[in-house]
Amino acid sequence: MAGEPQSDCLFCKIVAGQIPATVLRETDGTLTFRDINPQAPTHVLVIPKAHYANAADLAAGDPAVAAELLTEAGEVAADEKIVESGYRLIFNTGAGAGQTVFHAHVHVLGGGTSLQHPG
Ligand code: IMP
Repeated sequence: MAGEPQSDCLFCKIVAGQIPATVLRETDGTLTFRDINPQAPTHVLVIPKAHYANAADLAAGDPAVAAELLTEAGEVAADEKIVESGYRLIFNTGAGAGQTVFHAHVHVLGGGTSLQHPG
């Protein structure tokens, strides 16, 4: 069922504390932690604690938490001092777009001068 923890989901395991992560921020509905394989000086993931396969499913199932992902992304960007230099928010959706973990998450990437433009 949408929102229910999935036993085979990596990010559900991080939410449950079964897999360690470098947690930077937490709200009732979200968790923010460092990406294990950073692609920029700052590379953070913001996820809903509840399980949704991707951002669109999250937006349909819990719009308030979907909005909170963006709020938290902005807050962690400020915490990481990457607002002035600029940062990117990326939601990979579907394997064809590079999604590898099927628990909604937004990548927050910044702090470098070599950020690739997706277009
Ligand atoms: P996706 O390709 O958009 O699904 O992004 C998944 C991200 O999760 C990748 O950037 C991975 O490096 C990251 N990742 C995978 N396992 C872990 C982990 O255990 N902790 C933190 N990040 C992870």
